[in-house]
Amino acid sequence: MASEFVFAPPATVSVPVAGQPARFPVHRIYCVGRNYEDHAKEMGFTGREPPFFFMKPTDALVVVDEGQTGIMAYPSLTKNLHHEIELVVAIGTGGKNIKAADAHKHIYGYAVGLDMTRRDLQGEMKKQGRPWDIGKGFEQSAPIGPIVPVAQAGDAENAEISLQVNGTDRQRSTVSKLIWNVAETIEHLSAAWELQPGDLIYSGTPEGVAAVVSGDTLVGKVAGLPTLTVKIA
Ligand code: MN
Repeated sequence: MASEFVFAPPATVSVPVAGQPARFPVHRIYCVGRNYEDHAKEMGFTGREPPFFFMKPTDALVVVDEGQTGIMAYPSLTKNLHHEIELVVAIGTGGKNIKAADAHKHIYGYAVGLDMTRRDLQGEMKKQGRPWDIGKGFEQSAPIGPIVPVAQAGDAENAEISLQVNGTDRQRSTVSKLIWNVAETIEHLSAAWELQPGDLIYSGTPEGVAAVVSGDTLVGKVAGLPTLTVKIA
């Protein structure tokens, strides 16, 4: 029988789950913008604005197994590739109009992620009032470590979050400083889109974002989760 596709379909994108062989299949990648006050300030904003979202394509993931070093190619067109260390929330049960009080029932687990950003291109799009995709949604823009199921993840939403580049601290904060916490983020997100099992939410980055160059090694941590190590090729 002939194939039902005109060419081979892309493989299902998935992320390893700590402590078990079955993998987490990815549906969508949502990201929250400016969700730590000191990062909002360094980007030229102040105050608590309503949360806002953008997406990355699922094939933006650079999936890094525990103890391994992921490789991210330095992307085209940019001269200012920024790191953003983030707690990633993995959705296990979908829904729409989820209330913050019920949000945790929908969470499968947590991971450490990097929202890599072509800051110069994003800045140009902001200036022109155009979409951020070229700055945010490019290939290999979303490195991620293994997902840890909620029961084994400790208190990820109050954990220390940090990023070192070549052994030097760049970002260090605590997830409890999120302007919109994980439950509130899920409430807002699920009012706009119906969440599905397999959705990932990059919850925002603390202050200290800065450029990396080829050869740099990034070590991202959220206390209690596997460390994410990525080298820029
Ligand atoms: Mn971000």
